[in-house]
Amino acid sequence: MALLSRNSAHRMLLPAAVVLAIGVAGGALLLERPAAPPDGGATPQATRNEAAPIPLTAGHGENWEPVPGFEAAATLPDPTPSVAAAPMPLPSRAVIAREVEVRRGDTLMEILLRLGIPRAQAHEAIASLREVYDPRRLRPGQYLTVELERLRSEEKELRLAGLSLAVDFATRVRLARTDAGGFEAATLERPLLRRPALASGTISGSLYKAAGAAGVPGRTLAELVRLFSWDIDFQRDIRPGDRFTILYEEVSTPDRRQRRGGAILYAAFELGGERLTAYRFTRRDGTTGYYDRSGKSVRKSLMRTPVDGARLSSRFGKRRHPVLGYTRMHKGVDFAAPRGTPIYAAGDGTVTFAGRNKGYGNYVRIRHNGTYTTAYAHMQRIAKGIRRGVRVRQGQVIGYVGATGLVTGSHLHYEVLRDGRQVNPLKLKQVAADALRGADRVAFARRVAEIDALRARLAEERMVAEARAD
Ligand SMILES: [Zn+2]
Repeated sequence: MALLSRNSAHRMLLPAAVVLAIGVAGGALLLERPAAPPDGGATPQATRNEAAPIPLTAGHGENWEPVPGFEAAATLPDPTPSVAAAPMPLPSRAVIAREVEVRRGDTLMEILLRLGIPRAQAHEAIASLREVYDPRRLRPGQYLTVELERLRSEEKELRLAGLSLAVDFATRVRLARTDAGGFEAATLERPLLRRPALASGTISGSLYKAAGAAGVPGRTLAELVRLFSWDIDFQRDIRPGDRFTILYEEVSTPDRRQRRGGAILYAAFELGGERLTAYRFTRRDGTTGYYDRSGKSVRKSLMRTPVDGARLSSRFGKRRHPVLGYTRMHKGVDFAAPRGTPIYAAGDGTVTFAGRNKGYGNYVRIRHNGTYTTAYAHMQRIAKGIRRGVRVRQGQVIGYVGATGLVTGSHLHYEVLRDGRQVNPLKLKQVAADALRGADRVAFARRVAEIDALRARLAEERMVAEARAD
């Protein structure tokens, strides 16, 4: 499927947009003016057009059902109805809202003076604003909405009616003129749009570029890479033509100028004919993780003992070398086992070396991901088909215990390298890589169906929108 431009993505995904009018904290202090800020500020009117919610799954009624498992819902304030205060009667004035970009070196005072506001009034406004916001925090590129009014009786004089600006992703500050003639400032939680977003792309250069072109927020991309780091070495395994699909929650401001990636709900990679998938799922014990379609955890562990029935015969660390006779670092662990005992790949990966390697004898090295590599030494022989470049699965037999190289008896010398340095295999942090069982398994199957239906619906909407755009 073609990469989406942001515009086409927005065009078609807007119907799915969901408005959570996040409580207008202190909103009652503020009077809604006829000239609302162009980004909609906290007025419900401004967001209504974008907000027609469509059900997540058929038959769920017309209200947005939060997708279970999205933790973003817990990090944002609870949705509460937007409060619109009774409009102030404004029979004799016209309010003009001006959007102003902060330029390098600007102060708020300079901006207000430039707009023609008398200095004394600007002073008064800034003093009030300071109660909730330090105007020195203004940065170039930020936008302010300044509301100006012209009194009919004194046509020449412009009066500051109010101003507002985004402080951060979820907060605005707003200054408004009061009936008493002064100003009042308040902090507002901005209403945020939350919607499931589907992005996909074919990698031609880097994953980074392709994901950027598909509109995936940086934070979500980083999460995606983390998610698949056990299966994919992102430095080496990604090839032109590989594809990815990602379903994630997007949180944005109503004007969509600021977007943020929420939780990843589903992700898939197609790499050289192999397909990897991950579904987000929360187990009954409350832990949230990612599982492939069959319910196996996406995160994997390396085997601590990649050989059956073995006895640990030498630990990791300084020791007196049994052959050389002097003390040196033992950079792996030894497992004594009879000659011919099968040796397993400690994890999925790619063979980077298979052959004779000096004192290591018959030796195999496997790269598991961008971080971990394992090595197996002194093999009697290397298993058939195991050679450089071959992909292996965890538990696959890669060779047989022997006594080749610099050894006194038959054993497996096993090394785990993290970022190229040997670490103690027995101290590897192990991840619960077990498959989902029982009630979790049943709930997971339902979840997979839900997510697949959501993906299908979003993909269909996108196709319809693309067809319309042609
Ligand atoms: Zn050893």
